[in-house]
Amino acid sequence: MKMVKLQKKNLNAFLAGLEKFGDLHGPVRRDTNDFAFQKVDAPEQIAHDCLRTILPPKKYFTKPVDTMFTFSEAEGYRAPDKDLHTKIILFGVHPCDIHGIKILDLVFGGQYRDEYYFARRRNAIVVGLDCMPDEYCFCRSTGTDFTEDGFDLFLSDIGSSYLVRVGTSLGDDIVLETSTLFQEIGDTDRRAYKRRSAQRINSFEVEIHLEDLPEIMDLEYESRIWQELGDKCLSCGTCSMVCPTCYCYDVVDQLNLDAKSGSRLRRWDSCLFKDYALVAGGHNFRADRGSRIKNRYFHKQRGFVAQFGRPSCVGCGRCIVSCPAAISLVDVLTKLRSRGNE
Ligand code: SF4
Ligand code: SF4
Repeated sequence: MKMVKLQKKNLNAFLAGLEKFGDLHGPVRRDTNDFAFQKVDAPEQIAHDCLRTILPPKKYFTKPVDTMFTFSEAEGYRAPDKDLHTKIILFGVHPCDIHGIKILDLVFGGQYRDEYYFARRRNAIVVGLDCMPDEYCFCRSTGTDFTEDGFDLFLSDIGSSYLVRVGTSLGDDIVLETSTLFQEIGDTDRRAYKRRSAQRINSFEVEIHLEDLPEIMDLEYESRIWQELGDKCLSCGTCSMVCPTCYCYDVVDQLNLDAKSGSRLRRWDSCLFKDYALVAGGHNFRADRGSRIKNRYFHKQRGFVAQFGRPSCVGCGRCIVSCPAAISLVDVLTKLRSRGNE
């Protein structure tokens, strides 16, 4: 893989020079500890100390509310004026979130390929940025603390510079376009990168073991843990909304007041919502909260492994930080594994 060096003092000049490749988006501080990916007018607006945005980058590719088409008596069906072809540069995406995007690629590229999703993916340049874990990160346990692909460029902090890995030919074009800002890496940079890598590995405070978790979960299918969690869970769906790999959506037709026109929307949905498994005729397959939270855990840690060979959790910690009922995925999985030993 091609690697070059970018001095930190040149970062904003580099980002400003990307204008011709698309609109620049990155994490922006909303409150003391709240960050959100959004379009920026100038690179200075980007918060480089952001570890975890409220919503992950999935919001760019599968929108919270997305118009699929509009319809009217006069004009029939019309494809909406979409942002499908807007080119964006997504700066500051950490390794766990890049893995989140890779998981969504698997899901939306399956049997029924989602062209809305892939149109947006094709138009997004991903510039990754390394990070230091906090007490909620467990991406090292999920094997998503490092990525070799899924980005065009990836920047790792090596002191006064970034070591830049070039992941695609488009990334290479970008470097060539702004080549005066880059330098070749030397021995000092190689050593600095290895020190940074070791420091990062040693900074993880949380470790969970996922090796035989699907089997453990099968054994604990009838565990009282699920009911205990159900008693705490508020069914608010926050954990699904903030998760970089949750992708469920609902499709609804919305009629305008003239009753002659409207639109078909798809909206993020959550398996924690009470009516998620409600079917015609009024039966709800998961009417109680315990069965719904069990379903979420089984889908992410059991069913997804069976289907795609990996869990659909990238260890970002968002669901733990955001849960108003203080339900921690790490605690749940640790408890499941230790049950019977207590
Ligand atoms: S965020 Fe917490 S309370 Fe809300 S649905 Fe998820 S587990 Fe339940
Ligand atoms: S389940 Fe929680 S920790 Fe895992 S990827 Fe989703 S939000 Fe992040």
